[in-house]
Amino acid sequence: MDVELSLAMETAEDRNEQRRLTRNNLSRKQTIVNLMNGLSSYVIPKAKNFAECDVLNSEILSSSETMHTLHGNYDIDFDLISAADCIGNAEIDDLDDDQSDDNFNLINELLSSNNKQVSLPLHSYTDISTKEFCTNLLRAFRQTNLCKTYSTNMLKLINSGLPQPNNLPTSLNSLLRYMNVENLFTKRKVCLSCQFDIEYSATSCFKCISNDKTQFANVYDIDYAIVFSEIVERHIVDIAKYREKILSEKYDNINNDISFQKIYRSFLNTTFYQPFISTLIHLDGIPLDTSTKLTLWLLSCSILELPPHLRNQRKNMIILSMWVGTRQPIIKIWLRECIPSLNKLKSSGFSIRGGQKWFVYFLGLIGDCPAIKLALNHIGNNGYYSCWYCKIEGVHMCNKRQYHYEEVPTMRSINSYRSESKEAEVKGENINGHLGLSFFHEILDIPLPHSILMDYMHITLLRHTRSVVLQIYESIVPKKRSEIDYQLKFQQFPHTFNRKLKPIQSGHMKASEIKNLLLYGLLPIFYQHLQVDKAAHIALFVCAIRIDFALQKIINQQEVDNGKRNEGAFDITRLSINNIDELLSWHKRVCDCNQTATCIIIYHRCVIKNQTYHSLSYPKRQSTNSYFVKYTNDRRDTLFGAIELSFTYKNSTLALINNYPNEHLFSDVFASSSYHSSLSKYINTYFYLLQAKPSSFHYVPIHKILNICVVFEKDDFIIVTPISPVYEHD
Ligand SMILES: [Zn+2]
Ligand SMILES: [Zn+2]
Ligand SMILES: [Zn+2]
Repeated sequence: MDVELSLAMETAEDRNEQRRLTRNNLSRKQTIVNLMNGLSSYVIPKAKNFAECDVLNSEILSSSETMHTLHGNYDIDFDLISAADCIGNAEIDDLDDDQSDDNFNLINELLSSNNKQVSLPLHSYTDISTKEFCTNLLRAFRQTNLCKTYSTNMLKLINSGLPQPNNLPTSLNSLLRYMNVENLFTKRKVCLSCQFDIEYSATSCFKCISNDKTQFANVYDIDYAIVFSEIVERHIVDIAKYREKILSEKYDNINNDISFQKIYRSFLNTTFYQPFISTLIHLDGIPLDTSTKLTLWLLSCSILELPPHLRNQRKNMIILSMWVGTRQPIIKIWLRECIPSLNKLKSSGFSIRGGQKWFVYFLGLIGDCPAIKLALNHIGNNGYYSCWYCKIEGVHMCNKRQYHYEEVPTMRSINSYRSESKEAEVKGENINGHLGLSFFHEILDIPLPHSILMDYMHITLLRHTRSVVLQIYESIVPKKRSEIDYQLKFQQFPHTFNRKLKPIQSGHMKASEIKNLLLYGLLPIFYQHLQVDKAAHIALFVCAIRIDFALQKIINQQEVDNGKRNEGAFDITRLSINNIDELLSWHKRVCDCNQTATCIIIYHRCVIKNQTYHSLSYPKRQSTNSYFVKYTNDRRDTLFGAIELSFTYKNSTLALINNYPNEHLFSDVFASSSYHSSLSKYINTYFYLLQAKPSSFHYVPIHKILNICVVFEKDDFIIVTPISPVYEHD
């Protein structure tokens, strides 16, 4: 290649690089004001000129004879002189170009913020828009958990391979800015030994003259007004609808969601500002890696005026503040900026689009024992007076604290809670478990201790159920234990279950695994190994929790039902009806045509009330069981069976079900127990004892199918338990 040519190329490349860097700098300085002052009128035509020059530039760099671009067809003989001219031109109005380009970017941003996307191509040889490419790139970075440094390196690498010039941002920051990713957090770094804030980028504290990494913690506080207003804007309709339900009091007895309960009701009578959202504060910590003690602590909140299925979505949980450090957070340092700003937000409110003013209340605090202990400045869960609600002292015996049952416990009152905390703060000592005041006294709108919530996951699942299961497991002889573990390991569940059951031998169980065990597996798998009374007692516990769940879901269910999808069979099979005698004989009975192959069409799967059901003919079901169902008939009997296949016949969809007859009532198992009478009312709607082999075929219209069941195989019978279709959403 010609020396002059390669020199020219180098210069051009350098210049482009230079230009992009200054462009970023300038765009920061540029204000929207001068854009509004009329620059926009001539920026766009100029930008077009610029684009043409770009085309020429890239022409030089790629040395191609012919090119086709979005701007039109160019057919230019390659000529060094004209190329040099173009470079010269570029040089002359370089600054101008930069500015017009900046303005162009600004307009771009402005327009895209109004949802009128300007699709600028990534470079002139493609019709992939910059936006699309950046979106995919950012998604890829996030999916691969690439750190910032490597992301920037990757960006540079990709950039170096693209035709120059192009519109790809050159750094991660400019990429984020391009994608309108707002920086919502203010960062600060604190030194844990002197408790002062230090420079965020600093690696040592000047006061303590130490650079021990473990004594610093990073704190991230979010911009509260922005996040609260965004979430209200996004869900203003849902909030209004659910609020109506809450106010109507019609659902009070059938719904146990928090906003239908006593405390929320009494709170409603005291609210001063309107309109408002009320929130529940969550506090928890998770370790970030396994080699150090680096931990992330998260203060977040969820909105009670959102219906539960929206409230629990990750995007609707608002992060208030984060603490990243190798030590447990010191609440006074961590939240010393968060709580005052939240307090300010409470009194000033926040504006949403359209200027309406909303207010926020903080109703409760939820978390596990270590988190709440920190938040409330209370003694830990194994100390004396460790209960947040009552003043049980506890005794020390057998190397641990024991809290014996008290017939009439002395409860902590609102007044005693506050005064004793104050006293502890002043004296600097432990007063009935209080170690001092806490920020949450200021921020919570329902006074302590009423605003402390016990959560189902930690108490019922991770503590109570786990202890019960372990106790039972220990009491069983080792040979039987391994049988149970085997059963747990291979127990089948519907395909919608992400987690199933885990052998108890294998140690730690997740909350969702314990939930599956408690609701479905515990009784059928364990009851034969227990004394009747013990088993019956556990059965009562299982029933109580399942009733509780059912209550919780009534309102939710109504909402899910409203958005019904297409119902019916799908996934057509290659099975020939001529091989299925049952179907042939059925057709002969109900239809007089002789075109069976077109009259009846067979499918693998079907959708009923938003729930996908498989069939035994479905080849890809692997180790899941979504084909065993509870169904009914015209006499309203409760029946069970396995779907062999589903088929359509004259505009209706039916399922061919292999019926398993009832053996006897499940409550008969507990006949000799003293709990039998109180148990039989409920247990027989949750568990059914069936014969081990199916006996007859039923042809069931699919709207008669009610639930998917979990099947537990026993020696000469099976136990099935129907799953309410909404359990899995929890
Ligand atoms: Zn320090
Ligand atoms: Zn207590
Ligand atoms: Zn027919």
